[in-house]
Amino acid sequence: MNKGLLSVDEALERLLAGAHPVAEVEDVPTLQASGRVLAQAQRSSMNVPPMDNSAMDGYAVRTADVPRPDTRLKVAQKILAGSVGRPLAPGTAARIFTGAPIPPGADAIVMQEFCAQEGDEIVVKKVPSLGEWIRLTGSDIRTGGEVLPAGTRLRPQDTGLAASVGVASLPVYRRVRLGLFFTGDELVMPGDPLPPGRIYNSNRFTLNGLAATFDCEVRDYGIVPDSLEATRSVLRRAAAECDVIVTSGGVSVGEADFVKPAVEAEGELLMWRISMKPGRPLAFGRVARASFVGLPGNPVSSFVTFLIFVRPFLLKTQGIAQVGPHAIDARADFDWPEPDARREFLRVKWNARGGLDLYPTQDSAVLMSTAWADGLVDNPANRAIRAGDTVRFMPYSELYR
Ligand code: AMP
Ligand code: MG
Repeated sequence: MNKGLLSVDEALERLLAGAHPVAEVEDVPTLQASGRVLAQAQRSSMNVPPMDNSAMDGYAVRTADVPRPDTRLKVAQKILAGSVGRPLAPGTAARIFTGAPIPPGADAIVMQEFCAQEGDEIVVKKVPSLGEWIRLTGSDIRTGGEVLPAGTRLRPQDTGLAASVGVASLPVYRRVRLGLFFTGDELVMPGDPLPPGRIYNSNRFTLNGLAATFDCEVRDYGIVPDSLEATRSVLRRAAAECDVIVTSGGVSVGEADFVKPAVEAEGELLMWRISMKPGRPLAFGRVARASFVGLPGNPVSSFVTFLIFVRPFLLKTQGIAQVGPHAIDARADFDWPEPDARREFLRVKWNARGGLDLYPTQDSAVLMSTAWADGLVDNPANRAIRAGDTVRFMPYSELYR
């Protein structure tokens, strides 16, 4: 590795050592809990299903009453889902529908496709086996069994599962307050005319969008001019209002880079030069009780460093236990003959053959590459790629939560 550079893994380890889960837990209605992070494991206080019930529309019978095909039974009752039948008298059947409770005495369901109705009788054409098409009490979830582990972000199906065992509210960690600001005298907001020499503030959109996928409560302080006083003043305000402050730009050591001296004046700062491409400089520190992460201003670099560093940092702060992204092995359908001496995150896209294509320019100023791509290939330092090689692929879908 290059001298004086920190590896991605070392930087991540140091960063995560400084991430502390929010302490406050609040109860939210289960209907509003999707996207939140569960603070305590949930156990079921009931069996699911709560009673033996029919898995099919058909007839509930006693198997002893149907020793051979073409047996006739009298249909003595009808049981709809939501109602409870009477005990099944020997020699009779009960018309029954999916989800309806099995009447006492019945020990199998015959699908309606295998029964012919004749007046108030049925002809059962197929001999049922014991227990056929009966969903047993507790076969899905047993009373006392864990349904949801702590430290996971609740997905829609998780809230559905909680509701299925009667849970009306869930304990979740309070949302992380994330402060964002964007340094650079060159920045202009879309909607305003673009004077010569200026550029649009694209990072504001990328970082706000990312923050939303992580369910953060965002405070956006907008564009901050390249001056020490302006940077210090917004830092003080953000530190009073946020758990984590993430900024773009101003972390190099040029004449117009005020983030470093501003954070040093208001708190503590570590500057890291990281052995990765894109995204070399990263600043990590603290202002009052808020954590601070300063990303490079370059749009591709800030996007990638957010996904690689800020993402796990935020997840841990949110109370999520597993913060590593899932990478998958995938086939490269491209050559990468001149790898960098730094670990690279290449912008790639699935193709119709199930392999990965590479965006033609991996220049870190080309934001188009990130929009075109479906994710990043995590390529180790100095590793040349030949078409057909297996590479480590991190789809955006694994990096956006
Ligand atoms: P800096 O890290 O401040 O030296 O910025 C590096 C490069 O990224 C420069 O070309 C900046 O103009 C550009 N840049 C900085 N901030 C933004 C932003 N918010 N949106 C788009 N480009 C930016
Ligand atoms: Mg700048």
